[in-house]
Amino acid sequence: MVYYLNEVEHKYIVLNLRPRIRANPVPEELRGWNWHSPPLKPYYDIKLPMYLICSTYCKTARDVYLTVVEKKKGEEDLNIRLGRAVHETVARAIREAKKLNFNAKPEIKDEAVEDAVNMVWDYTMAACKSAFLKAKAEQPYASEEDVISTSMPFLVEHRMDGSLLGCSGIIAVDCYDYLHNIVFDVKVSSTSARLYTAGYALVIESLYEIPVDIGCTVSISFREDRMSITKDIHFIDANLRSWWIEERDKKAEIVYEQTDPGKPDECNPRCMFRNVCL
Ligand code: SF4
Repeated sequence: MVYYLNEVEHKYIVLNLRPRIRANPVPEELRGWNWHSPPLKPYYDIKLPMYLICSTYCKTARDVYLTVVEKKKGEEDLNIRLGRAVHETVARAIREAKKLNFNAKPEIKDEAVEDAVNMVWDYTMAACKSAFLKAKAEQPYASEEDVISTSMPFLVEHRMDGSLLGCSGIIAVDCYDYLHNIVFDVKVSSTSARLYTAGYALVIESLYEIPVDIGCTVSISFREDRMSITKDIHFIDANLRSWWIEERDKKAEIVYEQTDPGKPDECNPRCMFRNVCL
């Protein structure tokens, strides 16, 4: 399943990533619980959705200006619809699996993405069922509730209030694995998106005051009747946190000043605002 790590990935975390984190810990001022002091304290009284803070589609951040100041709506292409369907499918499959409803069927809202939805559903359900049965067999005296919460230790689409850090009042992290303390972000593209995990980790730290050092970006792609998954497991280090703060402040300034930042030299061919800007 997209949020289960394999043996090699666990070894990488235990023998490579965690020792590096211990040797080079995150500075205290860059922990989310220090949201009330610089540099984490928001400079402007502006709340932005996480996807706009982390979006790197537009080099000048004109997408932020168009969305928040001009209230424009972009055009959704197939890729955006596919991304939404995959997110919804993974979350719903895990919710059904936690109810031990392993025979549930996916909801197909958009026929153009039906094959992808079925693949993601079957894969997620099979992995959850396997993990549940394995845990149940290994812990015959554990309660059913205990087996469910240890074999599927995922808060999916977990709603959080990001306002302490200048984010929207309600944001949803794709998944937080509370046993391994890893924050996940799912992408249906090959773009690197470590800013998202950094943002979610900071919000978790601001609310629950626990350190979140490891992020994992899960990239899912589809070709004909196959889907493939790659994972980018990373340390949410000082550089990544500082980069997220810079993006938040740069974009909050655009909204506060209501200034159009203009277009970059080159526009992203997949930008949803091409109908507005070009
Ligand atoms: S179309 Fe170009 S200028 Fe407009 S938001 Fe997209 S990347 Fe930016």
